Amino acid sequence: MPTLVVEESHTNLKSIFGASGVKGKKVTTLPPEITISHFIQSIIKNKSSQIDSPFSVLDLRVLMDLMTKWTTKLPTVKPYYAVKCNPNLSLIGTLASLGSNFDCASRAEIEAVLSLGVSPDRIIYANPCKSESHIKYAANVGVNITTYDSVGEIDKIKKWHPKCELVLRIKPQEDSGARSCLGLKYGALVEEVPELLKAADVAGLKVIGVSFHIGSGGGNAMAYHGAIALAKNVFETASLLGMPKMKILNIGGGFTSGTKFDVAALNVNDAIKTYFGNDEDLVVIGEPGRYFAETSFTLATKIIGKRVRGELKEYWIDDGIYGTLNNIMFDFAIVSCTPMRFSSKHEKNVRDTKSYASTVFGPTCDSVDTVLKEYELPELEVNDWLVFQNMGAYTLSSGTNFNGFSSSAKNIYLACSTPVPREETNF
Ligand SMILES: *Cc1c(COP(=O)(O)O)cnc(C)c1O
Repeated sequence: MPTLVVEESHTNLKSIFGASGVKGKKVTTLPPEITISHFIQSIIKNKSSQIDSPFSVLDLRVLMDLMTKWTTKLPTVKPYYAVKCNPNLSLIGTLASLGSNFDCASRAEIEAVLSLGVSPDRIIYANPCKSESHIKYAANVGVNITTYDSVGEIDKIKKWHPKCELVLRIKPQEDSGARSCLGLKYGALVEEVPELLKAADVAGLKVIGVSFHIGSGGGNAMAYHGAIALAKNVFETASLLGMPKMKILNIGGGFTSGTKFDVAALNVNDAIKTYFGNDEDLVVIGEPGRYFAETSFTLATKIIGKRVRGELKEYWIDDGIYGTLNNIMFDFAIVSCTPMRFSSKHEKNVRDTKSYASTVFGPTCDSVDTVLKEYELPELEVNDWLVFQNMGAYTLSSGTNFNGFSSSAKNIYLACSTPVPREETNF
């Protein structure tokens, strides 16, 4: 006889509502039957014409669940959330209260994390090429671990932050098939490793570990194995050179939150066991960005214009390629949306279930600013809405103010959905 379990931890919720970046803000707790989509509808209905559009909803529950999943499937890997993916302070603060550390790549990102009261020893400065002024800043505030992949970087760090410990970023060999291949820009080649290790040693800087990034978004989860094997070779090279034993294996980002995560986790755990199984002092860290951010945000945009050309229906919404939806351009995202009908014009006509291959434009006067083409939608009107799910990764962080349209949905509503009670199963 299965028993009903509600996966609720009140202590957890309390600490999240009290987290920096969340405390003092309104968090709407949603009962199990109320989805984020219902919540968005109620926001639009209640505020009607006054509502600032576009807006986003951050579901704190998603972050809690993803953290539970991470610590269950990758128990030996400490997460350092990659701030560049989405620097929203409520998101960062929630992750901090759930025990995450942080990967920062610039002075401003370090400032944002420190502003939440996070200690600098929970930050890795994971940018292999930093400006001197940012290195000086890191030294001042006590961020004491950074990555490098060139001799030039060693010179700068020796000069401005000689106490800083180094992690050598290597380029994974395999092309993981990721949407954004970071190896095109970063990572030492195998043949460069001995020289880079020696140069740091001669400069009196301590190399404490190795990092890599298999590429972001949709990469092959098997790529971690080969990259961890390469990292092991670097550990051995350092030993052969008579350098102190390395202790940090940084497996970077590249995780997604779907079922691919389970495959990646098995792959990572197996590779750690295979290559580092007898290394008791090893500290493994990861730098997930997309994993936490992507599914936690939902974007709601309003239809502000419509044009009908024969069979073709074209709509303008108030966010686009230069704003939150820049992920279509920079992150090669394939987005999808759900219409929400609010216009009074539908009252006679709501039963019309026909759909049309439609075009959706963003608000700027550039024709590149096209969000969807030949996308099946029912006939919509001005003041209807389009809702985009999974809009948390590389969206709010990388938009512009082009043409006077603000880069991001400034209004972010915080919600905490409730998991539907489920039947306990044996697994
Ligand atoms: C962007 C980046 C990440 C995060 O990558 P995801 O694919 O979003 O997980 C992690 N580490 C470094 C060094 C990065 O540049």
